[in-house]
Parts: sequence; structure tokens; C-alpha cells
Amino acid sequence: MDTDLGPTGTETLCDVCTTELDRVSKVGRLADRELDLLRQPKRRINVNIPIRMDDGSVEVFPSFRIQYNTARGPTKGGIRYHPSVNADEVDELAFLMSLKCAVANIPFGGAKGGIQVDPSRLSEGELERLSRAYINEYHRNIGPETDIPAPDVNTDGRIMAWMRDEYESITGGQAPGVITGKPVELGGSEGREYATSLGGAVILDEFVDEVEMTRERTTVAVQGFGNVGSYLAKFLHERGYDVVAVSNVDGGIHDSSGIDMPALFDAYESSDDLFEFGAAEITNADLLTLDVDVLIPAAIENQITEANMAEVQADAVLEMANGPTTSRADEHLTERGIPVIPDILANAGGVTASYFEWVQNTTNEYWTEERVREKLATQLREAFADLREIKVASETTRTWREAAYTRAVESVLQAEAYRGNVA
Ligand code: GLU
Repeated sequence: MDTDLGPTGTETLCDVCTTELDRVSKVGRLADRELDLLRQPKRRINVNIPIRMDDGSVEVFPSFRIQYNTARGPTKGGIRYHPSVNADEVDELAFLMSLKCAVANIPFGGAKGGIQVDPSRLSEGELERLSRAYINEYHRNIGPETDIPAPDVNTDGRIMAWMRDEYESITGGQAPGVITGKPVELGGSEGREYATSLGGAVILDEFVDEVEMTRERTTVAVQGFGNVGSYLAKFLHERGYDVVAVSNVDGGIHDSSGIDMPALFDAYESSDDLFEFGAAEITNADLLTLDVDVLIPAAIENQITEANMAEVQADAVLEMANGPTTSRADEHLTERGIPVIPDILANAGGVTASYFEWVQNTTNEYWTEERVREKLATQLREAFADLREIKVASETTRTWREAAYTRAVESVLQAEAYRGNVA
């Protein structure tokens, strides 16, 4: 299926996106008719990819690429490998990417891709064949000026390298800007690997200043110890925060006097096991309800839900995963006066550094790590300041999420209007 959706394709609306847009319409200045432009993606593509496995059998993996909105520029967003990936999830994530690029003020639209697979089951060779096959199937739909993929859950620089290579062997010539999150040797940017986490640390600093807390007295719990959570915990520790709990898929560790993050980081690199570190063991569910100043879900979506929202004891939530708080839980936290710093601001450091990588690929001029870090911090501080301004100026905008959605949706719709797509 490769569907270019017309404006009246109501049967193909993105449900979660529609719920979120309806919330924005209550606080924003936007007419429903304008918001309709964002209730469904521009293009959904899905392909079942057959792969020859090492034992000679053939397995078929469902895969997706959804290009949500193109008004502000080429679409941008990662490709995730996960057994639960499905079209609805990718729709929502592509919608969030459209808003995230607008919040970060980078000239991209939003997209997302995914393959329904448990990558831990695959050999290195099977993983490479699957990654190359994905590009084989989608190469006509991506490109440095149309749609630029990147890493997401369970994908990394090695996979981006295979994908760039496959794209170039199909199209001929060099095309470093077709994908971001590449290894530095292959046109990747210095600092991209930890940029999502650095961005999250910059945003948390801004928030802590805003509410007049001090970093030294701020305790944090981080759910997820993958690329985002591990670097974030390390950066926060370096900046003086007290990281008291971290977890991965197997569970977590807790030490109310603070975890020695550099020691844990080193130990984890060799063992991949948090429990060997010797701190008190907790479950992922326990971590989400710890009495900390800032709770940081940095793994996957739908972690703070109707089932556990009443037990959340944190004073604030920083969403480093995409969509970790359900709409109902978000309302509940708001009613209890617990601020949530939304994903489309908190984790925008990754796509912002991806933009820097694409600029470097396009100009063929490469930046130092220091330059990337400085530009990233500046860009995110400005994004935070823009949202603060919206919150201060508007009586109806209660939350950071409402401010972020208002800013992003207005920006996307303004671009649509300039293109003549708004009546
Ligand atoms: N997957 C990341 C995100 O959700 C990065 C996307 C990108 O760099 O394009 O923001």
C-alpha cells in the first residue's frame, strides 16, 4: 500500500493525534478547520519484507514509513525496530516528529519508520539484510531533500551506515544527507550519539532555574538505560543532580544517597547488567512511583497511565521517551499540579543534532564537537524560552505540553497557509 491521502480521507485519521489536537483547540487560537490538516498523515507506506534467515527459512517482517507533514521542509524521523511496532504507533510518532521539529525550530517536517521485529533474536547478518532490505523497499520515498531517516528505539549508527550504503548502491553516487545518526567516519556529526540526552539536560537546567530549584538538591529517577537514558543519567550527575534510580528492561537499582554514575557507566559497558553494581534492586513499576523531584521516563511510550498515575510521587516529569505519558495520565498530573515537560521539547536534542549533521553533509564542512554542543544548547534554550513566553502570555495555556503544541501547530499551519493550503 502506498497511499497519498486526500483531505477527506476521514477513515484514515490518526486517533491519538486527533485527541491531542482537540486538547490544543481548547486552549489555542486555532480553528478546527485548520487543525483538520493535521489529523492525518500526508503519506503512509507499508511493506512486508521477506528475509532469508541464517537457517535457510524465510521470515516476513511488516514495516512502515509514515510521512506526516511536509509543510516546513523535508520529513525527518527515526526508524525503530520493535516487536510491537504497528501503523497506529508509527502514525502518532510521525505526528510528534512534525511538532518536535517545529518546537526545535528546525526546517523539517515529521516522519517515522519502523520494522515489527525483535532485533535481539537476529544474527548480525540477518540484521544487516533486514536493514538493507528496508532501504531497498523505501528508497524511492526517501532522500536528502524529501525524507531523512535516523536512529530510534533499537537502531544505531551501524544500522544507519548499512542504510546509507544500500541507498547509494541503488541510486549511485554519494548521498551522506539521506540519513542521520551515522558513525562520524561516515559523515555523522560529532556529538550526535548523545545529543538527545544533552538536550534533555539543557532543558532540565532551564526548567529547574524557572521553578527556582537548585540542581544539587534535585533528585532524579531515570527509566531506561539505552542510548538516551544512560547518557542522560551521566550528564545529570556531572551537572550536580542526584541520580537516585535507573533501570533497563530487566528492572532497576535505587540508592537514595545517589548513584555514582561514572562508576556505573563503566561497569555497565562491560557487563550490560545493572544488578551487578550492587545497589538495591527495584522493578520498573517501582521506579515510576519513587518519591523523587524529577521522574524521567526515557524508554518507550505509555509508561505513566491510568493504572499508575495516582501513585506517581515525583514533583515533575521530564519526558525523554516519545509519548511516555497517556493523555488521561497527563490530565491527572496536571490536576495534581505536577508539571510535565513534554517529549517534543525534552527529547528534541536528537533531531536538532540530526539537523546539524544534515547541514554538515549538505555543505561538506564539518564542525567540532564543541561547536555542536554549543549550538545545540543555544537552540534548545531558545525553544524553552519560546514556550515560556507562550505560557506567560496566555491565560488558557496551563501546561508546558499545551504551550509546545500551540507553538508547533501554529508554526506548521502558518507554513501550510503560506503554501496556500489553508482556505
Ligand atoms: N528518533 C529520534 C526522535 O524521536 C531522532 C529523530 C531524528 O534524528 O530524525 O526524536
